[in-house]
Amino acid sequence: MNPIPLHAGNPGPLTGGGNWTWLIPGRVPTLVDAGVGEARHLDELVQALGGPALRQVLVTHGHSDHASGAPAIAERMPQVRFRKMPWPGRDGRWPVAWEGIEDGETIEAGDTRLAVVHTPGHAPDHLCFWHAETRMLFGGDLVIQGTTVHIPADLQGDLAAYLASLQRVLALDPARILPAHGPSIEDPAPLLRAYLAHRRERESQVIEALRCGADTPDAIAARIYRGLSGDVMPRARATVLAHLQATSGGLSLPRRAKRAKQILANQPRACIFSLTSTGYQGRSPWLVRCSSFAVRGTLAPWIRSSTSLT
Ligand SMILES: [Zn+2]
Repeated sequence: MNPIPLHAGNPGPLTGGGNWTWLIPGRVPTLVDAGVGEARHLDELVQALGGPALRQVLVTHGHSDHASGAPAIAERMPQVRFRKMPWPGRDGRWPVAWEGIEDGETIEAGDTRLAVVHTPGHAPDHLCFWHAETRMLFGGDLVIQGTTVHIPADLQGDLAAYLASLQRVLALDPARILPAHGPSIEDPAPLLRAYLAHRRERESQVIEALRCGADTPDAIAARIYRGLSGDVMPRARATVLAHLQATSGGLSLPRRAKRAKQILANQPRACIFSLTSTGYQGRSPWLVRCSSFAVRGTLAPWIRSSTSLT
């Protein structure tokens, strides 16, 4: 299988370099992710198809930089099927005849078959597509080389689910991940382990802060991110809140979980989101990728100036 990367043509302050979609040529020409409907993307798609008609688009998740191009593709290629895990209340934003797919399904694509792997966390409907023969994974927004994926809890992001999804993909032992942002990830296991280790370290710091009596997100953030300037505190607080959410779901530390829940109960829902990182150092523009939802312009300066706040 030789998937062809096709850029969605959507670079910008909110998407960084923009999205990659992947064309799988063959008997069932398949596109992974729809992009945003840019004419140039569709032109390049037609050119890459080289004659045969596109049969289906598999969408990794319902964030707009992955799904919003569906109507434009449908207009130009009415025969195409659009398939994703349902996200009730959101899929209707892009009016095509979405067909639901579920974890464990096998889907014909190109001249081969892909397994559907549900990997929630970044989004509740997030799917990866697994090609067992080559151990290649279409990763969507699960991981991005060299930088971060964020977990927008106000859009049903879930840090605990995200960590479980990373574990699940690590267990597949992929040889290569083709992501929707950034370069292809060769030998992804070290990167997946680094994501997990980083999150565990942060979680243990949050739990330790709870143990020491910190009882507000700011107090926990101040303890973890010592010397933090005020302008980056909102992002530190958001990360703390995401961890509190994950911690409060655990059963092993009931007393701390109770305090985490009490703190969370006092927070407005919309402020709870986070970014995950493999050691982000405030340099990479990838951090603002896939940002059509949680990370808006007002947050960008904090992101640019921050150091490993996730
Ligand atoms: Zn996304």
